[in-house]
Amino acid sequence: MIKDPLVQDLLYEVINEEEDGSIKIVECLIKGKVTDEEIAEATELRLNIVRRVLYKLYDAGLASYKRSKDPETQWYTYTWKFEVEHVEEMINRKNQEIVSNLKSILDYEENNMFFACKSNDCRCTFDEASENGFICPKCDGVMEYMDNAPIIEQIKEDLVIYDEIDFGANKNS
Ligand SMILES: [Zn+2]
Repeated sequence: MIKDPLVQDLLYEVINEEEDGSIKIVECLIKGKVTDEEIAEATELRLNIVRRVLYKLYDAGLASYKRSKDPETQWYTYTWKFEVEHVEEMINRKNQEIVSNLKSILDYEENNMFFACKSNDCRCTFDEASENGFICPKCDGVMEYMDNAPIIEQIKEDLVIYDEIDFGANKNS
């Protein structure tokens, strides 16, 4: 799943680090390295970087940890877990937001007529354009009807793509 571009996008967004190894940290976690020290050793990243990334994941709900005390040394150990299900939830939720956003843009495009000047520096609805006497507020050029069919087409294509994404649903297929 870590190779999935949707997962990688989400992780980059959450971790938000220049550090190249942050994905490696998650990989390690998935493969069963559960302490910051094990991960630092396996990835050859500095311990403080590993910890920072782990806490960012925790902050976003993508990782959790358990604290346990070593009875002999009295030291605390943190064992980490990557929350796969939460990743799927977050991706699907983000996706639903994109879909509903696209739907409202589509609605706006389908229910309005648009006007623009030749230099296309201002795109207005019929009401906005007629208020200005069909003169562009930016360049004083004449505003003419502009067919938005290509825009509507593009939004519909995007909607099909996003609508098909149901992340995690096909993981067993
Ligand atoms: Zn203009």
